[in-house]
Amino acid sequence: HCKSLNSNLASFSKCQTDILHLYQLQQEAPRPKRMTCPQEMESRPKYYGREFHGRISREYADELLATAEGAYLIRESQRQPGTHTLALRFGHQTLNYRLFYDGKHFVGEKRFESVHDLVTDALITLYIETKAAEYIAKMTTNPIYEHLGYTSLLKDKTVHRLNRGRTEPRRVTFQRDERIASPLVRRTVLKDAPEKQCSYEKMHNFKVHTFRGPHWCEYCANFMWGLIAQGVRCSDCGLNVHKQCSKLVPSDCQPDLRRIKKVFSCDLTTLVKAHNSTRPMVVDMCIQEIELRGMKSEGLYRVSGFSEHIEDVRLAFDRDGDKADISASAYADINIIAGALKLYLRDLPIPVITFELYSKFIQAARIPNADTRLEAIHESLLQLPPAHYETLRYLMAHLKRVTLFEKYNLMNAENLGIVFGPTLMQPPEMNALTTLNDMRLQKLVVQLMIEHEDVLF
Ligand SMILES: [Zn+2]
Ligand SMILES: [Zn+2]
Repeated sequence: HCKSLNSNLASFSKCQTDILHLYQLQQEAPRPKRMTCPQEMESRPKYYGREFHGRISREYADELLATAEGAYLIRESQRQPGTHTLALRFGHQTLNYRLFYDGKHFVGEKRFESVHDLVTDALITLYIETKAAEYIAKMTTNPIYEHLGYTSLLKDKTVHRLNRGRTEPRRVTFQRDERIASPLVRRTVLKDAPEKQCSYEKMHNFKVHTFRGPHWCEYCANFMWGLIAQGVRCSDCGLNVHKQCSKLVPSDCQPDLRRIKKVFSCDLTTLVKAHNSTRPMVVDMCIQEIELRGMKSEGLYRVSGFSEHIEDVRLAFDRDGDKADISASAYADINIIAGALKLYLRDLPIPVITFELYSKFIQAARIPNADTRLEAIHESLLQLPPAHYETLRYLMAHLKRVTLFEKYNLMNAENLGIVFGPTLMQPPEMNALTTLNDMRLQKLVVQLMIEHEDVLF
């Protein structure tokens, strides 16, 4: 990774000295000096070493540490016996931190294997934040990210992706307000959008990350200092940035297929972006298979297939993606495919009808006047994230067709509503009472969406 990092760095418009500024400061930061206690302390917890001095006073600790920057020791609090304080010399004064241990050592958010590591990191952070406070405050005002844009900054990655035989993503995004203001416009956009083209906005999925070796922020180009947890990494696309920079990065995550390991239980928008499609291929493939050979099957979606076989289909999708074989020769019983589709929808980390909009749909269903109710549902539908809306639209059109075969399959909008209600909608907070109450309304929402599919979508 160092090689590609260097080539990225070379193309930055910022000058080299700027980029190395924080890195050099980290090199200059005082090193930890462990002040050991001459005698063995009986009260010493086993996870501390000789740097533990027992119940000595704050003043005495101050005296012991006065010798050198970076000197540290641990003492037991005199006022609160059993609690421990890390005393650390920095900037010619002694700093005291309440020190905790729960298998790892910590004074704040970061957790360390050893007290020595904790002190190393603290000294780096203190030093950099003292020496470069102004620089850090201004760090994000001139981000390289905006100069170059995500695509060009990560050109190597993009080229790599293209080489794997996929079409270049068209980076057009739906404007949220535009969608709400003019459903008709959005509808046209959706209809005109070429198949297999994804243009959704997606937030990055940042997680605190410990980098090995020096790393530079891909947003502000500055060094990511510290011993551990120096920054955050997007687990979907691999973008590395400072924690403070992560709040400024636009929602332009382009998930890397190599990072999206599974198909099931993967966020809808993430999956769709990673595969550059409009809908998850599980939904497309299952529905196509069912329309091919299952429309007249009695109790379609109500009768369940063998759960081991459904599990099999799930594994096939996770393993083979769109190469998964779900044909009649692999699974003769269409209820297995229907079951896999239901499982896929139920297992989404964010349901098709999102947690955020759940109560909006439920409230809409409560409206007694049929026309107003339908309008309220329509309104709520338009607020769904594009990937969710597209999936729902496709599914409802399919379920509508299923009801046209009611004579054979005995399925109508009402009993499909019972099946798909809890699959597509889950309350943000599960509680037995609301769930029971809401079930009727969930059913109604889905039933209405099937019955009025042509008007609503
Ligand atoms: Zn990302
Ligand atoms: Zn940064």
